[in-house]
Amino acid sequence: MTDLPARRLLLVHAHPDDESINNGATMARYAAEGALVTLVTCTLGEEGEVIGEGLAHLAADRDDRLGPHRVGELAAAMAELGVTDHRFLGGPGRFRDSGMMGLPQNDRENAFWRADLDEAAGYLVEVIRETRPQVLVAYDPNGGYGHPDHIQAHRVATRAAALAADSAFRPALGAPHTIDKIYWNRVPRSVAEEGLARLRASDAGFPGVAVVDDLPGVVPDARITAAVDGASQRERKAAAMRAHATQIAVDGPFFALSNDLGQPLFATEYYELAHGTSGAAPGERESDLFSGIAGDSGANA
Ligand SMILES: [Zn+2]
Repeated sequence: MTDLPARRLLLVHAHPDDESINNGATMARYAAEGALVTLVTCTLGEEGEVIGEGLAHLAADRDDRLGPHRVGELAAAMAELGVTDHRFLGGPGRFRDSGMMGLPQNDRENAFWRADLDEAAGYLVEVIRETRPQVLVAYDPNGGYGHPDHIQAHRVATRAAALAADSAFRPALGAPHTIDKIYWNRVPRSVAEEGLARLRASDAGFPGVAVVDDLPGVVPDARITAAVDGASQRERKAAAMRAHATQIAVDGPFFALSNDLGQPLFATEYYELAHGTSGAAPGERESDLFSGIAGDSGANA
C-alpha cells in the first residue's frame, strides 16, 4: 500500500452525472493536487430522460441503450476533471437504475433499490480496502432529494465504511481500513436562493427556473461545515457537466436537467461533516476536506 498517494478521496454516487454536478470542482482540485480521487458510481443511469431528439432513441422506453452510452459520457467527464480512477459498483451494469420513487422500475430484480445491502456494500468494501481513503463523500440519508438510488447509495456507502473497518468482515477483501471523515453533499439555503435569484435576473434561455426545493441537499446555512473553493476549477467542472450531454444542458454559470428548469452551477461546493472530527476552529468552516487528518501536512488548504 506504500505506493498510494498521501491523500485519498472516495466519492460514491448513484448515476453518471451526479459526481460532476455535486463534486466536479472538488474532484478536479484534489486530482490536480496529486490526491487519489476514486469515484464509485452505483448504476449506469439507464432510466434517465434524454435531452434532445438526436439520442432520444437510447432511452429505456425505446432502445434501452442509454446505460452503455452514459458509461462513455462518464469517461469523458472524468477526463475533463483529471480523474483516472472511476468504477461502477460491482462492475458496469451489476445494478440497474431504479427510476424515480414509486415507479415499477423500482421493483426490477436488478434494480439498485432492491440490492441486498451487505452484498452491495461488499463491492465497496473491496474498493475501500484497496484505495484506503481518509475521506468519503456521499449523500445524506434522504439521498439529497429522495431518489431511491441516491438513498440506497447513502446506505451502501455508510454500511461499507463500517464493514471496511471490521476485520471480521470478509478478510479476503483486504486489510481493514477506517475512513477518518465522511461528508454529505450539501448546498446552503442562502447560496441556493442567491443563485436562483441571479438566474431569474439573467437572460439564460431555459424554459423555466427551478425553485429552491428542487435542488438536492439544500439545508440551513448553519449545517454546512466545509466549503471547497473551486473557482480555479470552474471551467473543468462545466466541461465535465457538458460531457454528460444526454442529461445536462450547460449555459454559462447555469445548467438544466431534462426537466428544462434552470439552476445555478456552483463552483464552490459545500459539505456537512457526518462522521469524524472537523479540522476547523469551532464555529468555522473547513476549506479542505483533509484538514485535521493525522499525517496530513495541511498543505494547499
Ligand atoms: Zn442521480
